Amino acid sequence: MSPIPEFLSNAVQKIFFRCAIVTDVEALTGHFRLVTVAGPALIGETWIPGQKVQFHLGNLVTRTYTPTAWNPDKGIAQFLMFLHGNGPGSDWAASLQKGDPCQFIGPRSSLNFADIKGPSLFFGDETSIGAAQALASSNTGNRQAHYVFEVSSSIESEEVLRRAGLTNTKLVQRTADETHLHEVDKLLASTATSLGLPQWILTGRAQSIQTLRKLLRARRMLFSKLNVKAYWANGKTGLD
Ligand SMILES: Cc1cc2nc3c(=O)[nH]c(=O)nc-3n(C[C@H](O)[C@H](O)[C@H](O)COP(=O)(O)OP(=O)(O)OC[C@H]3O[C@@H](n4cnc5c(N)ncnc54)[C@H](O)[C@@H]3O)c2cc1C
Repeated sequence: MSPIPEFLSNAVQKIFFRCAIVTDVEALTGHFRLVTVAGPALIGETWIPGQKVQFHLGNLVTRTYTPTAWNPDKGIAQFLMFLHGNGPGSDWAASLQKGDPCQFIGPRSSLNFADIKGPSLFFGDETSIGAAQALASSNTGNRQAHYVFEVSSSIESEEVLRRAGLTNTKLVQRTADETHLHEVDKLLASTATSLGLPQWILTGRAQSIQTLRKLLRARRMLFSKLNVKAYWANGKTGLD
């Protein structure tokens, strides 16, 4: 597809996107960046943990990320970005530096963690750790959340989870033949049983979510409340 003429792109940008400044970029491990953005456009926003933000990469191309936290008084939000290395969003996140301007739409509806009242069971991958942090931040009282992640590098993700202060986490290393999803299935099933009737939150790669739903259904696992949001899919770009 030919690029959109610059004058048109500029006009649409001004109408649809809001501006902020990248105020901090922390390289957590090789593939993760903790990015802080700030500006008057973020002040006074009502942020519901689980919501998404779409960042403008240029030429009206956007990619979606989940605020891990949002301070509406100070106008600051934070994002945990995974650099998978195979797309413009990943390249953009890798290139971000303190002082860079950025443009965004949101926060917009995606998952709604404010609605989760009892124990919850969260599945995802590297792209979901930010959402898991948002869930943890919305967990008050004795609501309990447990997290299972499929990851490419347990060492890297363990470090990121430790930095995020997430507890009740289990990591399963991906395998090329996807057999690791059987381990994920077992972990989810045993954790769900120990929690009673948790609310389920399934995020991350579309194909993993699909396989796990099949495996869990085959066990006659009861999904009392199921929240599903695929964050990316093999063979697709800019899923949201
Ligand atoms: C609601 C929502 C919230 C999200 N929140 C976050 C977040 O907080 N942090 C975060 O890091 N990501 C998050 N994502 C995922 C992120 O938007 C996708 O990974 C997106 O595809 C990245 O864009 P890209 O330009 O790098 O790759 P694309 O151009 O979209 O895809 C290029 C290729 O890369 C592959 N690909 C995409 N993502 C991955 C991946 N993770 N691992 C391996 N291959 C991949 C695609 O299958 C495709 O083949 C979220 C997505 C959604 C929909």
